[in-house]
Amino acid sequence: MGIIRLLDEHLANQIAAGEVVERPASVLKELIENAVDAGAKTIDVTAEEGGLGLIRIADDGAGIQPDDLLTAFQRHATSKIVTGKDLFQIATLGFRGEALPSIAAVAKVRCVSAADGDGLGRVLEMEGGAVKKHEDAASPQGTDMSVRELFYNTPARLKYMRTIQTELSHLSDVVYRQALARPDIAFAFAHNGTTLLRTPGNGDLRQVVAAIYGTAAAKAMLPIQAEHPDYTLSGLTAMPVETRANRNGITILVNGRYVRSAAVVQPLLQAYHTLLPINRYPLSVLSLRMHPSLLDVNVHPAKLEVRFSKETELRAFVEDAVRRTLGERAYIPSGTAVR
Ligand code: ADP
Ligand code: MG
Repeated sequence: MGIIRLLDEHLANQIAAGEVVERPASVLKELIENAVDAGAKTIDVTAEEGGLGLIRIADDGAGIQPDDLLTAFQRHATSKIVTGKDLFQIATLGFRGEALPSIAAVAKVRCVSAADGDGLGRVLEMEGGAVKKHEDAASPQGTDMSVRELFYNTPARLKYMRTIQTELSHLSDVVYRQALARPDIAFAFAHNGTTLLRTPGNGDLRQVVAAIYGTAAAKAMLPIQAEHPDYTLSGLTAMPVETRANRNGITILVNGRYVRSAAVVQPLLQAYHTLLPINRYPLSVLSLRMHPSLLDVNVHPAKLEVRFSKETELRAFVEDAVRRTLGERAYIPSGTAVR
């Protein structure tokens, strides 16, 4: 008799949760991504106690069909990819089918959802991965997901949480990046009853920048727009007068996904080069679009990093585009070919 066994699903979910759900902000990121993937036009986020007490997201997206609700919380259950080929053509933010089961394994979750406007939906409540309630419920079209008492059954993880203020700043960061990624979606974010962000959802990126960084910063942003056979770049990048002490004001979006990418940030900074004082960084929102096959998004558990198949080409394109944007405003004197 061998001693190797398959883990039961519950245990497997708890282990996966360790990777997917690092802190409240990771839960929020996954749930906002789901709302975005569902085509929501409005996403309302409320949190309490840095997200450890409550994270709640209500969206007006496509909703989950009543018969799918339990399945959505199963491991590797997804409506977003079907075949292996899809993995190289990912057009949604999610695709692993791991978020909901992972979150439900380490928290108390309540999900109310309806896929039609007829008010007929269903509610599912889970605690530590076990179903507590599953029945028909009235619901507007969309999904209302509450996650309470995160890590209540994994004290080791709970112990590593920082102060409410620190967890809140991570939550805000997630909402900010998603709001910058999707100016066409109206985001609202409240913490312990105080509204911290509200975006109009009218597609105007500058107004989202204003809501997050203030109107002065928004006014100092230059529009950037560039084309390449493989890529398009758009967004806003600050005049060198609007500088910051760190790189947090740089948001890189690739096919609508917020990522951390040296392959984009480095050429951006190179383009500013001597225009910025030492240790100062620009405020910048750069949105790159490319064919999904030029990109591997499946390299990081939180999907925060991506791999580009033609990185050298991409770097040159970004640097050139930013340089030209600054050059048009004569921040870079013409004729100074740096390179
Ligand atoms: P993934 O996003 O990788 O598919 P998740 O575990 O995050 O996996 O979600 C599982 C499935 O549940 C999704 O594929 C989707 O069909 C459904 N779902 C989750 N959240 C929502 C939502 N807010 N609106 C509509 N459908 C949702
Ligand atoms: Mg998801």
